Amino acid sequence: MIRVMVTGAYGRMGREASKAIWNAEDMELVGAADKMGAGLDVGALIGAGNIGVVIEKDIREAVNKTRPDLAVDFTGPQAVYQNTMTHLDCGVRPVVGTTGLDPEQIEEIIRRSEDLRLGGLIAPNFAIGALLMIKFAAEAARYLPHVEIIELHHDQKQDAPSGTAIKTAEAVIEQRGDEFRQGLATEIEKLPGARGGEFAGGIRIHSVRLPGLVAHQEVIFGGLGQILTIRHDSIARESFMPGVLLGIRKAMRLERVVYGLDKLLFE
Ligand code: NAP
Repeated sequence: MIRVMVTGAYGRMGREASKAIWNAEDMELVGAADKMGAGLDVGALIGAGNIGVVIEKDIREAVNKTRPDLAVDFTGPQAVYQNTMTHLDCGVRPVVGTTGLDPEQIEEIIRRSEDLRLGGLIAPNFAIGALLMIKFAAEAARYLPHVEIIELHHDQKQDAPSGTAIKTAEAVIEQRGDEFRQGLATEIEKLPGARGGEFAGGIRIHSVRLPGLVAHQEVIFGGLGQILTIRHDSIARESFMPGVLLGIRKAMRLERVVYGLDKLLFE
């Protein structure tokens, strides 16, 4: 049995992850941490009654009391770096779903995990369909010279662009090996931001935030007289859960933190 704690257990993703772990045959939900809901039994949040897993305000407190092998983090962009370092320092394998880590922070986390020989995973997107979208986009990038990314999320999302959009941009740039072509160099942006955020390699990313959305993305390629659109929609948070469980199982066999579930799925 893999002993798992959930950090951010009171949040939307934390509840969904707690439920999936609770129902997994090879896992035991042993602990929970969150700034909200301290003292609450997680069972009450996942419709399982009293299960004896109580939310602690402090991560170290939760670790000391419950001795998990691994911690799944679904908190927020301001908290995730410190949380992940705390999990590592406590000897707990981090599986990070929270987005908003910058490249330097990801490097730092990987370096620390290598020093400690502790496996883990940072996965900006756990939905298998989204990983396929990125894979197919990377393939298309070799043949079509223009690309723009539109990501659409619910209006409570704190960071923009999404971690998935960044991961997609990185993947298509790597495959293209060159700058993508853009619109006119002389174009006039009359409303600042109208052309989206300019990522490296000539890629524009546009972020839409609306209630009713969950997590969606279009990668639109342009070529001479043609358009290729690759689109993925997560219509419910449960879409992420097979990936979360897979990430937990794989992370138990790693000796360093890996960035991207695709690395464990396709390679
Ligand atoms: P949410 O509902 O706001 O839940 C986050 C929870 O974490 C909140 O209860 C929050 O408390 C708590 N928290 C914040 N800082 C904390 C800390 N230092 N220690 C412990 N708990 C802390 O957010 P969500 O919708 O679940 O999303 C969480 C993250 O998952 C976001 O970064 C989102 O982008 C990401 N996400 C990833 C995937 C994926 O596949 N990888 C999929 C969907 C979402 P407060 O409200 O008091 O801050």
